[in-house]
Amino acid sequence: MENKIRLAIDMDEVLADTIDKFIEVYRQDHNTEILLEEMNGKEFHELLPGVLNSSWRNYVNQKGFFRDLKVMPGAAEVVKALHEKYDVYIVSAAMEFPNSLVDKYEWLGEHFPYISWKNIIFCGNKIVDVQIMIDDRIRNFVGFKGRPILFSSPHNHFITEYERANTWAEVANKLL
Ligand SMILES: [Mg+2]
Repeated sequence: MENKIRLAIDMDEVLADTIDKFIEVYRQDHNTEILLEEMNGKEFHELLPGVLNSSWRNYVNQKGFFRDLKVMPGAAEVVKALHEKYDVYIVSAAMEFPNSLVDKYEWLGEHFPYISWKNIIFCGNKIVDVQIMIDDRIRNFVGFKGRPILFSSPHNHFITEYERANTWAEVANKLL
């Protein structure tokens, strides 16, 4: 194994635009329009009308939900470049939604085919021995000894205590 710096990259809301998919399914299935600009500091489901409040769980437990997510803007190019310089691991707490496992694996194969299966970690808690972690959830930074980079997502909008990257271009500026 080469002695590159190990870098963990999250999937949902970092590589994959999960929120875009939520907006789309609620528009199509429930005629409900969720506006990104109203989401700052909130979870997506907090913006749903009361009767739909827990329905998002049905979606994330459906096979196929995670298979056709859009790649976040710039992620394809930047991750390819990071992969040259770092030992890149994709780390997703996919065990929360076990039906997502095959979807996520196939999605990575489609969009990031150069990432080896050996570098994909589907887990519960993200207890990983890496030097840098890019994630949108600060709970994944608890106990992490390396350099956490908070990737901006509406729900983490008001969090100030972490180094932040708003876009993949900003990740490139920091790490390439
Ligand atoms: Mg995430």
